[in-house]
Amino acid sequence: MVPVSIIQKEVPESPELYSSKSILVIQDMLMETFMNLGGFHEVVGRPKSVIIKPNLVEVPFHTTGGSVLTDPRVLVALIHLLKDHGVADIIVAEGKSVNLKHIHSSAIDAFNKSGIGHAVRKAGGRLVGWDEEPFVDVPLPDGEVLASVKVPKSILDSEYFINVPKLKTHCQTEVTLAIKSMQGVFGVDDKILLHNEAFPWKMMDMLKAALPDLNIVDGIICGEGYGPIYTEPVKLNVIVGSKDVVATDAVCGKLMDIDPIEVPITRLAMVQGIGEGELSKIEIIGDSIEKVAKRFKRANLWNPIGLHKHIKVFAGCACRFELAQIGAAVRRLELDGKLHLLKQDVCLIVGSKAPVPVKNYENVVIVGDDAMDHPWYGKFQFIPGCPPLPSVQIVHAIEQYLDKN
Ligand code: SF4
Repeated sequence: MVPVSIIQKEVPESPELYSSKSILVIQDMLMETFMNLGGFHEVVGRPKSVIIKPNLVEVPFHTTGGSVLTDPRVLVALIHLLKDHGVADIIVAEGKSVNLKHIHSSAIDAFNKSGIGHAVRKAGGRLVGWDEEPFVDVPLPDGEVLASVKVPKSILDSEYFINVPKLKTHCQTEVTLAIKSMQGVFGVDDKILLHNEAFPWKMMDMLKAALPDLNIVDGIICGEGYGPIYTEPVKLNVIVGSKDVVATDAVCGKLMDIDPIEVPITRLAMVQGIGEGELSKIEIIGDSIEKVAKRFKRANLWNPIGLHKHIKVFAGCACRFELAQIGAAVRRLELDGKLHLLKQDVCLIVGSKAPVPVKNYENVVIVGDDAMDHPWYGKFQFIPGCPPLPSVQIVHAIEQYLDKN
C-alpha cells in the first residue's frame, strides 16, 4: 500500500494578511504529515540542501480569494520546519509563466508581486527564478515524446526536491496538482512545446527526468471552476502529502470528487508505472477522503461554442487545449467587465478543416496553426501557435470589436 497523508485543520487568517497564528497551525499540519508518512528524517533523510517548487502559474490580475497560487503560509511553515531539522540551504524556485514569454518580466518579479518573495526571504529561504538559471539537458533513453529534457540545474544540484502545488481544477487537464505543476519546471520555450493533446506524454517524460521526492499539496484555499487562473476559492483547510506523485493526484482528485480515471495525466501516469493511482492500493493516513471531500465545480465550459451570442466559434478538428484558450479569453473579458460591450459578431476560425461560414463576416480571427488550411487564412488576422499562447492575444483580438461608446 502506498501511503498518502491527509490533514484537515481550521486555518485562521488569509494568504494576504496573516501572522504567526496561521503559520503555527500549518506547521502543525506539516509535522503531522511527516509523522503520517513515517517521520521527518525517515521521509526526507538529512539533506543539507532542499529545493521547493510552488505553483506560481501567473500572478492573477483579478481577485481570486487566494485560489490560484501556492499559499505563502505553506511555504513559510515548510521552510521553518526544514530549518528546524537541519537543512541549511532552502531554495524556493519557479520558472517564468508562458503567458509572460513576450513580456519583460521574470519569475522573481512574479515572486515579488505575489508577496511570496518577501515571505520566503523573511523565513530564511532563497529565491531562484529558473528563467535566469542554467538548465542541464538530461537524456531520456525511455522517453516517449522527448529524447531528452532540459531540467533546471538547481533541481539536479539539490539533495531533495519538494513539489508544493495548489489543489485546483483546470480547463485543459481537468485538475492541476502534483503532476501538472511540473510543467513549471520546463524552460519558457519548452513550456509551449506539445501544449496540446500530447501534453500528458510530455509530463511523463519530465517526471522521468525530475521526479519530486515529496509532494505537499496546498489545499487550504483551493480553486474550483475555470482553473488554473480564473478559479473561485473553496476553503478545504487541508494538506495532502505523499512521496508518490500519482497517488497524490489520485487522492487530491477524489477530494474534488474527480476519479483518477477522469484525468488523462493521472491515468497515463498510472499505466506508465510512474506511481500508484489505484485507490484500493493507497493507504490514507489521517483524515479520510469522505470527511474532507467536496464536489468542486469543474472547468466544464472549456468549449467556447455558444458561450456568447456575438463570439461565433467555427471549429473543425480542434483540440481541447486550443478551445480552452478561447474559453479562457471569454472568461477574462467577462471578469474584466468588458464582455457586455461586444455588440457585433466576431467570427473565430479554429482548428483544421473548420467550416467555411456562409455569411460574409467582417470581423474574423483565424486562431491556431491548424487553421492555416482554412480558405480565409491570409485574408484576416491570424493568431499563430499550437496552441496560441498567451491566450491574452485572443482577448486583444476580440477587444478590437468592443463598443466603447
Ligand atoms: S493547432 Fe490548435 S487545435 Fe491544432 S493541435 Fe495545436 S492547439 Fe490543438
